[in-house]
Amino acid sequence: MEKKTQESMKIGREAENAAPGSNTPGRQPGEKGEEPGQAGQQPGKEAAGPEQAVGETHKTDVKSMTLPELESWLSGMGEKPFRAKQLFDWIHNKQASSFSDMTNLSKALREKLEKEAGLVVLKAAKVETSGIDGTRKYLFETEDGNFIESVRMTYSYGMSACISSQIGCAMGCRFCASTIGGVVRSLTAAEMLDQVYRIQADSPARVSHVVVMGMGEPFDNYDELVRFLHLVTAKEGMGLSARNLTVSTCGIVPGIRRFAKEGMPVTLALSLHASSQKAREEMMPIARKYPLDEVLDACRYYFRETGRRVTYEYSMVNGVNDSPENAEELGRLLGHQGAHVNLIPMNPVREKTWRQSPKEAISRFKMELENYGINVTIRREMGRDIDGACGQLRKRYTNQIL
Ligand code: SAH
Repeated sequence: MEKKTQESMKIGREAENAAPGSNTPGRQPGEKGEEPGQAGQQPGKEAAGPEQAVGETHKTDVKSMTLPELESWLSGMGEKPFRAKQLFDWIHNKQASSFSDMTNLSKALREKLEKEAGLVVLKAAKVETSGIDGTRKYLFETEDGNFIESVRMTYSYGMSACISSQIGCAMGCRFCASTIGGVVRSLTAAEMLDQVYRIQADSPARVSHVVVMGMGEPFDNYDELVRFLHLVTAKEGMGLSARNLTVSTCGIVPGIRRFAKEGMPVTLALSLHASSQKAREEMMPIARKYPLDEVLDACRYYFRETGRRVTYEYSMVNGVNDSPENAEELGRLLGHQGAHVNLIPMNPVREKTWRQSPKEAISRFKMELENYGINVTIRREMGRDIDGACGQLRKRYTNQIL
């Protein structure tokens, strides 16, 4: 991971895409000159990182720092290395939301931290709980007045947090609510972490799994994503197992290839959604930039490099991609590789015309795929009654208050 300099860890320097407090969208989906996936060609180039305005000006974003970075930053203030361990423990293990809680630090240091450092704590603007399955959906407000969504799901194995990687999304998928209005900015590692920490603070059991499947395209925010993954797995912090983490991408080939080399056994999920290049282009503008065969090649490369099987996500849209012919085509495309396909009943989005495939079409599709030796699961529709489709809660909320 790229080491950050003290200067680059400052928060609140000039925002490139958004002024503090603004909800003005930046890049629109498919906007010319900045087409979807452009950032993905050089992953990390567009990472918001500490260069974005994240609230208070000229404070150092200590929550985004690794332990060695904290050590060097604190030693610049004349503090001993063990102070960095204590601070890291408060931030990532105890998950404190203010410096004043950090009682084993000297009062003088706490005061210095108040002045020099920012802790990036998200505010829950709205929390909804599903009456069906207890899924909890959070609308968090960032320090610069933007909104992101996160979800907590309860499974038999424990609690899982689904988090956002960007405010909005530039990818323009036709069935997705997050992309309406384009991308405002990418999130910092601290903002990704704090979604997990706030959810943990609100949960009766340990959050053991994290999926980066909320708003945004993680590989359009590469460096901060990887920084987040290192921090959430740090043994001195929350210490999640990399095997319990999943990153979902719309198929940014250079991002997938680079990610394969990070040396982290994270599960990669590919949003496939179509069985041919032509059909995929109709659903996802990014497919024009990264053709299906190159995307699948990159996924096979990811498996070879990491030993982790890629999950293929396929949102079932009525009359668009759910016919027996589509199943056959997909079967031929992925068959005999021990592939895992996760069928997602499309979550209807008010602003979009596409609707969910009928249950029978989904079960038939599953059976067809299984004939090709594919391992198929159907995603439980969690929290349908609370605007489960990602981006919808934010849309409803901002429509009301703006
Ligand atoms: N940008 C990433 C991650 C965010 S979306 C990606 O594309 O993978 C997480 C998953 O939800 C993706 O598979 C996405 O295609 C899917 N999705 C988005 N809107 C949906 C909807 N309305 N119904 C069903 N799935 C949806």
